[in-house]
Amino acid sequence: MVEISVVVPCFDESEVIDVFHETVLAALEPTGADFELCYVDDGSRDATVDRLRELARADVRVRYTSFSRNFGKEAAMLAGMRMARGAAVVLMDADLQHPPELLPRMLELHQHGYDQVVAQRDRSGEGAVRKAFSRTYYRLVRRFMDVEVVDGAGDFRLLSRRAVEAVLTLPESNRFSKGLFSWIGFDTVSFRYENVERAAGASKWGGRRLLNYGIDGLLSFNSRPLRLAIHTGLWLFLSAFAYALWIVANALLDGVDTPGYATLITAIVGLSGVQLATLGVIGEYVGRIYHESKRRPHYVVRETERDAGRRAGAGR
Ligand code: UDP
Ligand code: MG
Repeated sequence: MVEISVVVPCFDESEVIDVFHETVLAALEPTGADFELCYVDDGSRDATVDRLRELARADVRVRYTSFSRNFGKEAAMLAGMRMARGAAVVLMDADLQHPPELLPRMLELHQHGYDQVVAQRDRSGEGAVRKAFSRTYYRLVRRFMDVEVVDGAGDFRLLSRRAVEAVLTLPESNRFSKGLFSWIGFDTVSFRYENVERAAGASKWGGRRLLNYGIDGLLSFNSRPLRLAIHTGLWLFLSAFAYALWIVANALLDGVDTPGYATLITAIVGLSGVQLATLGVIGEYVGRIYHESKRRPHYVVRETERDAGRRAGAGR
């Protein structure tokens, strides 16, 4: 069994993959640990898989899985964790935003008995809008979620073998790994590092994708939004009841008055809004149940390093 598996999801990373590979080797070789690199090509449209094929041919410690299309980073991380054979598994991005220089430190903390070692980035050098957005999001998440999710504690982490096994027992197809890692528990330690810019290429996370990721995070971990709907409903019902009492009392004291059109239309529109929003929340959950009930696999594999080996063999 190897000591460390480094799992790397890659989507259109051909520009950085070689630099990344060299940097990881430079960080891990001096530690003397026995390691393997598990690359997952998430349906890249560029030459990423060609680069991986070459890396795997040159070095037996390199393994890879290539998806038939883009299935998203969550699916790629899952595939990587399934593929990893190490006693400890490190998840990291290919764009060098997760500095490989931190690997020895993570290993050391793991040797001190921690099952999860989290490298937590600060937000230096990020746009003001994005910073404000993430801060608000994490504040919301803390209010609504049953599991603890920490800002900047992303997917750059080391998991012990038993922690990986625990994550792999979670079958849901709507994966929100930040929540999953927190859900499995175990002794966790985190340390901070300074945010770094992407080495090359572009981030695949536009504003819309981030927003949807945020909604996923909120909805896939609990049913508190539904609880909120019940609370709002009760509150509205009580207000309406109080208002009705007031109208009756008024009619008894002052005689019958014709109530205003404005009050009526405001109430109708306001309540329709609340109903639609609530229906939307319920719909989201029903959608998720539908999605989960199909029990589709998380990804489809096109090739792995073994296929590449066979191909090379056949060509000889
Ligand atoms: N990634 C992936 N599939 C996707 C999008 C991203 O495997 O659909 C990988 C990507 O190659 C990188 C990591 O996930 O290694 C983080 O992506 P990115 O740098 O675009 O995200 P950011 O750092 O901006 O959050
Ligand atoms: Mg990045």
